[in-house]
Amino acid sequence: MIELQKEVDLYHIGFEFIPTKKMFISRYKDGRWEAGKIVPFGSIELSPAACVLNYGQGIFEGMKAYCTPSGEPILFRPEENAKRMNYSAERLLMPEYDEKKYVEAVTAVVKDNREYLPPNDSGGALYIRPLMIGSGPILGIAPAKEYLFIVFCCPVGPYFPKGFEAIDLKISKKYTRASKGGTGFSKTCSNYAGTMKPAKEAKEEGFAQILYLDSVHMKYISEVGAANFCAMINDTLCTPSWDGTILEGITLKSVFELADKKLRIKTEQRDIPYDVLFTEECTEAFCTGTAAVITPIGSISWQDQKRVFNDHEPGEITRKLYELLTGIQKGEIEDEFGWTTIIT
Ligand SMILES: *Cc1c(COP(=O)(O)O)cnc(C)c1O
Repeated sequence: MIELQKEVDLYHIGFEFIPTKKMFISRYKDGRWEAGKIVPFGSIELSPAACVLNYGQGIFEGMKAYCTPSGEPILFRPEENAKRMNYSAERLLMPEYDEKKYVEAVTAVVKDNREYLPPNDSGGALYIRPLMIGSGPILGIAPAKEYLFIVFCCPVGPYFPKGFEAIDLKISKKYTRASKGGTGFSKTCSNYAGTMKPAKEAKEEGFAQILYLDSVHMKYISEVGAANFCAMINDTLCTPSWDGTILEGITLKSVFELADKKLRIKTEQRDIPYDVLFTEECTEAFCTGTAAVITPIGSISWQDQKRVFNDHEPGEITRKLYELLTGIQKGEIEDEFGWTTIIT
């Protein structure tokens, strides 16, 4: 049995795992998904021969429910995560999960863990983790015949407990995250195990994360750990092209729409050689993700070169995009895009 923490101070939490009350679970067997149900949060039983344990057949999603000023949970583009999970599933020969049912499961988990939703003024959120794993036993390398789809959640504190702060990055030519033809574009569990050592080494050197490059030329920017990269280059908001090695972030897509429709700035998806970051053509840089929201980049280092952006302060466009995005996500400003769903 997992002990429930009775008193969780939702004003003083970080990004540590805290068990909540309920989770959703559905099984896939004999070629179909069962209806699935809400159950108490707890351990699951798996065969040691489960495909996910031996061959890494697992995918996940990451979402956040914020609390509106009037106290209701609010979701941000949940149908986009549902779509992306199926996109990932397809790559690992896993079964599709109905997108409407995905959103219903996420909604039910938020509702049934309502007391763990950090209040609007805490800056925190309820982090939601949908997970699909090949649970059936298998010996040869082949897809499992049985699967589990699980949704659990965990309250998390604000990403910027000390205010909107810029981070320091290091470019790596020693490690890459994904290669062409691989699984970089999908949220497979196995994409992340290999990034822990590079991240640990970067942290030991005083950097927040690694800025990964493409694995073919070691020249073009890929991603920042598990977040997408954006930069203002010649007054245009740029992000790397999606060549199958980059996770297509929902935060990134939203930021690009906000830049285009609200700030009326030019946007472009293209190959970005890292050396442009060390020139005056590049004026701001930030990374995006559900966890990282919009995180300003204060500096980028490569060997003994270091580029500091705006005296290590968040850039003007970065700040405007952050205010627009988080305002919509928390239901504080009007959502003219129809991105949010309030759970009543
Ligand atoms: C999840 C993830 C992102 C961010 O995607 P969002 O949909 O914005 O949360 C970016 N890069 C990687 C590698 C990721 O796993």
